Amino acid sequence: MPAGTTAGTPQVLLAHHLKHLKLPTVLREYDKVARECARDGVDHPRYLLRLVELELIDRERRMVERRIRAARVPAVKSFDTFDFTAIPSINKMLVLELARCGYILRQENIIALGNSGTGKTHVAIALGLAACQKGFSVAFTTAASLVSQLLEARDEKRLLSLQRELQAVKLLIVDELGYVPLSPTGAELLFEVFSQRYERGSTIVTSNLPFEDWTSVLGSERLTGALLDRLTHHVSILAVNGNSYRLRQSAGRRRATAAAEQNQATADEADPETGEIIA
Ligand code: ADP
Ligand code: MG
Repeated sequence: MPAGTTAGTPQVLLAHHLKHLKLPTVLREYDKVARECARDGVDHPRYLLRLVELELIDRERRMVERRIRAARVPAVKSFDTFDFTAIPSINKMLVLELARCGYILRQENIIALGNSGTGKTHVAIALGLAACQKGFSVAFTTAASLVSQLLEARDEKRLLSLQRELQAVKLLIVDELGYVPLSPTGAELLFEVFSQRYERGSTIVTSNLPFEDWTSVLGSERLTGALLDRLTHHVSILAVNGNSYRLRQSAGRRRATAAAEQNQATADEADPETGEIIA
């Protein structure tokens, strides 16, 4: 287009306004969709409708991605990659029902209990992602990291604002309660988080310890009782017991490597021409 003419102005202005209105998909697609609509004889309202629908679909996708980033999950894991047959103790029907997120609307909690490597974190993350997809805000943390964040916030006189943040999130996932014993102040701060969320938001807790051993982490029997009282009032408990999936996989890999080595050793002894094993 020759410089100095105004023929390009509508596109330039349109791009400017669409950016200002935060309609990036309309900006990206309007020309292509216009050509398609002209080719198919589609009228203007339908052209506009197509563009607006594209923007809505894209916006929803961007919002889900933003919620997943904000959730700070350690890895993106979903139920698509979860093998329910590997952990027979887990109630698949219950887990899939929970993935529909009704419990979040009812401000109920989930506790996943089981030994290490059985998929508790995987399930918690997958439930978190399902919640992000359904439009709920999610935050993932470990018990140890949450407590150190709370202690740090308290020292820096911003405990109240962190507590408000933790209270506002629709689903808080506290992973790995039980691996690290907490200091008395740490345990009290954690208790406050659960207490402030009671009947206001949903919390998922995973632990390698049965309830009767939670006192060893929280220090005081009184505090443990009060915490469990709030956490388990409206709760679904997932028993995730079985052999460690990690160990099983690495045992499987070791077997596969051993078998490959055995095959290789056998092949080395074989006649290169016939493939027959030379005794
Ligand atoms: P936990 O939190 O109970 O210690 P994880 O959820 O961290 O266990 O699981 C350990 C590893 O094994 C992860 O990589 C996880 O994705 C995988 N895993 C565990 N259980 C399953 C399963 N049933 N199907 C697929 N992957 C699994
Ligand atoms: Mg874990």
